[in-house]
Amino acid sequence: MSAENTELLINLVYVVSAVLFILGLKLLGSPATARTGNLISSGGMFLAVVVTLLDQQIIEYEYILAGIVIGGLIGAVIARMVEMTSMPEMVALFNGFGGLASLLVGWAALSVALLTATAINPVSVFTLVTIFLSILIGGLTFTGSVLAYGKLSEKISGRPFVYSGQRVVNSLILIAVLVCAGLFIQDPSDLNWLYLAVALSLVLGVMFVLPIGGADMPVVISLLNSFSGIAAAAAGFAIGNTLLIVAGSLVGASGIILTNIMCKAMNRSLSNVLFSGFGAVSSSTSTAVIEQGEVKPLSAEDAYYILEAATSIVIIPGYGMAVAQAQHVVKELQQLLEKNDAEVVYAIHPVAGRMPGHMNVLLAEADVPYDLLLEMDQINPRMDTFDVAIVIGANDVVNPAAREIESSPIYGMPIINVDQARTVFVLKRSMASGFAGIDNPLFFKENTRMLFGDAKETLGKLIKAFD
Ligand code: NDP
Repeated sequence: MSAENTELLINLVYVVSAVLFILGLKLLGSPATARTGNLISSGGMFLAVVVTLLDQQIIEYEYILAGIVIGGLIGAVIARMVEMTSMPEMVALFNGFGGLASLLVGWAALSVALLTATAINPVSVFTLVTIFLSILIGGLTFTGSVLAYGKLSEKISGRPFVYSGQRVVNSLILIAVLVCAGLFIQDPSDLNWLYLAVALSLVLGVMFVLPIGGADMPVVISLLNSFSGIAAAAAGFAIGNTLLIVAGSLVGASGIILTNIMCKAMNRSLSNVLFSGFGAVSSSTSTAVIEQGEVKPLSAEDAYYILEAATSIVIIPGYGMAVAQAQHVVKELQQLLEKNDAEVVYAIHPVAGRMPGHMNVLLAEADVPYDLLLEMDQINPRMDTFDVAIVIGANDVVNPAAREIESSPIYGMPIINVDQARTVFVLKRSMASGFAGIDNPLFFKENTRMLFGDAKETLGKLIKAFD
């Protein structure tokens, strides 16, 4: 095939891939079509990788194939082995490696550009700027994501690290990076400015994530996801690859949209998430303002009598359901309650669990019909009509302190108002706090009953009582 025809074929397939990416993203919007969406997008990426390998400038394939085989194997093994509860950590790491890849592509593009440049035909400012951006944003994304991974997996403390003057220090680092950029673009042959900028961008990634802790990690990961897309788009400009620009822009835009949705779900601005050191307040501080009442434990056998008489029940799953792997027994209980002529629905909080859509994924795995999953805004107005709200391993997302205690670190965060149901069952193992590390006044409310124990075991006992 002539070089021109190959070029044409590559571009045509790129257009098809871009369409498949967009279609896939659209299908990801609903749990019913998400799996197909994922497959379609992966197909688009597979096509893109195959035709990119036809590029005439590739002189040897050995290293590329070795990279594909080794990388593919590592990715497949990790994806197979990862626990559902550790998925956000994996996403954080993937974002980081995406950033590192863009940094390396940018760097390689620079080496090629400098090698082929002549006095009459120097590297253009546009190319230098895009190369610089892919290196800078890629580096920042890499270290920021690795730190986010460490915090989420609790390999390092998840507490926010804040000190006075933090914003000033971060701004100074950013200004220093921009100065390096200016000096490097003026004289690209002096690589020292670039090296310094790379080092500073790696430091900036760490400084950016350090003050963010606990409950805000999902937002940071989503934002870093967006950064990895922007870095990839910049790398696409640097090497003149249209599809990389398209794919990077799609990731960049969808990451920013998800970040925005999550901020709204927490009723906070992005700058508040990034700079407020949310969660730095110790649990004992928040305990002091909580009006303690009496905790009323209930046995599964006694809970059965209340459930048996209930005609409308709402189930609120949280991170503990994932830990207990209780999704299948939840579905069994739902079916028994329905057989008993009760209406059963699920209320899903946008940040329940440890990743966006965590609860949807688990319930889909147990074949819970999608139309039974209601969002917070659909369920809250009718919460007082439910006889029983069963909270399964959720804590922060049902914490009324967000509504009632102005000094609480989560004040203003929209929650599922389970305390407004007639009776509330809370299934958890102890009085321990959730991810945000703060106490929960729900456990002391008049209409709350605590069913202590592993959620799967407690649900098993309830199911047995129905048999
Ligand atoms: P929480 O982390 O607030 O609470 C989970 C509760 O589950 C704990 O209090 C724990 O109590 C209980 N639990 C743990 N294991 C079990 C078990 N085996 N059986 C029964 N209960 C168990 O979870 P939520 O879902 O309510 O809230 C999510 C939190 O995580 C929010 O703060 C959110 O911002 C944050 N987050 C969300 C992410 C997302 O994208 N969805 C990602 C990262 C963080 P006990 O130990 O007493 O059993």
